[in-house]
Amino acid sequence: MFLTGTPPQCQSKTQAFLDQEHCLLIDGEWVPAASGKRLEVTNPATGEKLSSVAEGDSEDVQRAVFAARRAFESGPWSKVTTSERGKMIWKLADLLEAHLDEFAELESLDNGKPRAVAAAADVPLAVDLLRYMAGWATKIEGNTLPISVPYMPGAEFHSYTHREPVGVVGQIIPWNFPLLMAAWKLGPALATGCTVVLKVAEETPMTALRLGHLIQEAGIPDGVVNIITGYGETAGAALAAHPDVDKVAFTGSTEVGKLIVQAAGQSNLKKVSLELGGKSPNIILPDADLAAAIPGAANAIFFNHGQCCCAGSRLYVHRSQYGEVVKGIAEHAKSIQMGPGMHPDCQMGPMVSQIQQDRVCGFMNSGLSEGAEAVTGGQPGEGQGYFVEPTVLINTRPEMSVIREEIFGPVVAAVPYDDEDQVIAVANDSQYGLAAAVWTRDISRGHQVAKQLRAGNVWINCYNVFDAALPFGGFKQSGWGREMGHDALELYTETKAVTVQL
Ligand code: ADP
Repeated sequence: MFLTGTPPQCQSKTQAFLDQEHCLLIDGEWVPAASGKRLEVTNPATGEKLSSVAEGDSEDVQRAVFAARRAFESGPWSKVTTSERGKMIWKLADLLEAHLDEFAELESLDNGKPRAVAAAADVPLAVDLLRYMAGWATKIEGNTLPISVPYMPGAEFHSYTHREPVGVVGQIIPWNFPLLMAAWKLGPALATGCTVVLKVAEETPMTALRLGHLIQEAGIPDGVVNIITGYGETAGAALAAHPDVDKVAFTGSTEVGKLIVQAAGQSNLKKVSLELGGKSPNIILPDADLAAAIPGAANAIFFNHGQCCCAGSRLYVHRSQYGEVVKGIAEHAKSIQMGPGMHPDCQMGPMVSQIQQDRVCGFMNSGLSEGAEAVTGGQPGEGQGYFVEPTVLINTRPEMSVIREEIFGPVVAAVPYDDEDQVIAVANDSQYGLAAAVWTRDISRGHQVAKQLRAGNVWINCYNVFDAALPFGGFKQSGWGREMGHDALELYTETKAVTVQL
């Protein structure tokens, strides 16, 4: 269902921010790109210009890395106590919360997602993550270790470990949750005492830039967080290849993840963490509560317009319930109110860009031409923006690209199965291993299935449940390392073992 009528305007302060000629944040100063080039930002609901940002490239990355290195080595950051560090991150969370409306509007206009969803999920999750990480700043502990040293009989030692910041971190983030991904990256880096060069996605730079102003207001010293807007192939690649970056944290496609690994290997063997693609299986067992599983499966794929690396894009349903589930999810899809994210009734906005709209439609067309059938959807949506109809595909085959590849759009393939053991093997038959879900009333069975699924995050009788305390990341080609939770600290620290002979 496409919403008609003009959506309300954003608040004047949001518009005033969009109207600025945005610059890069380097060493506490907002500066234009060295090349002077600019990058136009588009509103995906209309295809019209939203704002303008600097087009940073390798020269700007060089300046930003230099600033981050200086801030790490000799700036005040290294002398800020862990308690002060925690307070600054907490203050940033408070400031973000105080500006929730503005951030929700910016995110909706820039990314296309419903303003209401950004206000209920993206911004509060970012605030929560920052607070969670603020708490860790004072709790990054080492161990004392009893050691024996067999070749030094009689000698006595005192050994302990420290966890120290890894140093200058390059962080490259995608466009699907622009603010939240910035928070996932910045939170643990700041809590552990690293300094950062953040390269935001060219499609969606607005909320990270606004956050940059709050970072300054929170008292985080100059050079600790530097923000670069620009293209992946230039600014992003320069950051991944920079010899003075100690670690790169990347979220995006598996394809680009492999380029990041190559760049790290060919430069200085910097540490790498990756949160990449997925093709997540969602399994409805025969005893599942369908009243929960059907809307749950719809949410699994249609949340954020399917632009989630953990989207439940392969839906496996026992043959005995297949017809009912397909009908239910198709009805759900048809009822979704699609339109500009600023519309108060919007439940699904546009894809982030024309490129993504074309890509998603390309996948659908390839599936349809190979014999799949769209029970609902299968077309670009109405309106001048980059809309795609929520789509339910049936009659797919395992070798089709709609089953094997990440579509990153609101397209689910519903596949029947007969045998429970066989469906687990089919679910695991993927190059990815980010997320998976199982729906069942038999909770023991749910745990048994969860154990067999090769994925970093498994949900039982729910989907898309995120919390700052829960580690997130993938098996197989879905990534390296875990973000959020205690695990995230490991990505940003080095262990040092110190031994003294007594
Ligand atoms: P998508 O295909 O969904 O846009 P990408 O993986 O291309 O996802 O982009 C995620 C992030 O990676 C963005 O910030 C983008 O600018 C950046 N990026 C793209 N290509 C490269 C590259 N070759 N090196 C480093 N970063 C890149």
